[in-house]
Amino acid sequence: MTKVTGTTKLLGVIGHPVEHSLSPLMHNAALAQLGLDYVYLPFPIEPENLAVAIAGFAAIGVMGFSVTIPHKQAIMPLLAEITPLAQAIGAVNTVTRKDNQWVGTNTDIEGFIAPLQTTYQQDWSQKVAVILGNGGAARAVVAGCHQLGFAKIHVVGRNQQRLTDFRESWGNSPLAENLQIHTWDALVNLIPQANLLVNTTPIGMYPQVDESPLSTAEMINLPGDAIAYDLIYIPQPTQFLQQAEKQGAIAIDGLEMLVQQGAAALKIWLQQETVPVDVMRQALRHHLGLTVAEL
Ligand code: NAP
Repeated sequence: MTKVTGTTKLLGVIGHPVEHSLSPLMHNAALAQLGLDYVYLPFPIEPENLAVAIAGFAAIGVMGFSVTIPHKQAIMPLLAEITPLAQAIGAVNTVTRKDNQWVGTNTDIEGFIAPLQTTYQQDWSQKVAVILGNGGAARAVVAGCHQLGFAKIHVVGRNQQRLTDFRESWGNSPLAENLQIHTWDALVNLIPQANLLVNTTPIGMYPQVDESPLSTAEMINLPGDAIAYDLIYIPQPTQFLQQAEKQGAIAIDGLEMLVQQGAAALKIWLQQETVPVDVMRQALRHHLGLTVAEL
């Protein structure tokens, strides 16, 4: 743990609630490893206090902060600059102080694609992505799949109106040029085509560990060489990933995305090329109660 002194610089995460955020654990482990005079704190901020809190952050010299639910969209009008990627997906998860102004970006995209790029070096240009869910995380996943160059990106949701809103929210953004929306009944045709199947719904998240967004009958048609990616990181593996692995598919859980979006944010705040990603991952794994044998 960093020794807090009169010169300690401040980073943190804003959210409501924020008590269960794993970000302080992950970032403070990295800052301690780097021996930097920084501390990263959780800031529970109610929606009506967002503007005054951000003004206060500027006044006390906060260097940067993470943004979680419910502030990822609401923070946007309070920022002087927003990166085009964060603008396109309509959400900011990382804010930094630059030339006395707040600049927002979104590192969830980088977090999502990191394990796909580093572990499975592929040409994705002939590949099909099927994304379950059309909420906030699905937006970063769509942008990530576009960045990787997927030929087709299918988003599957349970509510036609929310799906239509999702599609329209992209406007003419090039990020959505290969995007198609479908209701859940289309899965029977989509799953056999999927090279990447991503769960962005909360179905199967602790404590509902026996649930999966797909039935066994639906999952049975997943190609054996597909990649199944669940954004959920508790439990590991989820029911969804267990079903996919039974089909022979490669499984990726949400922990790496969490680690990598945090690492990307820390690089921005510290303005350095590398941060101790292993230490961040280890801090989370340790906290989540995984044994070394499972690493
Ligand atoms: P969200 O904005 O609430 O979106 C959830 C989506 O799941 C919505 O499209 C919702 O459908 C759908 N959904 C919920 N229950 C469903 C059900 N029973 N059947 C079918 N669809 C259902 O949440 P989010 O922020 O995108 O987060 C989604 C998940 O991703 C959470 O588990 C979160 O922890 C995880 N996540 C992980 C990371 C990471 O770093 N690993 C990052 C972000 C999020 P409707 O639109 O119809 O309501």
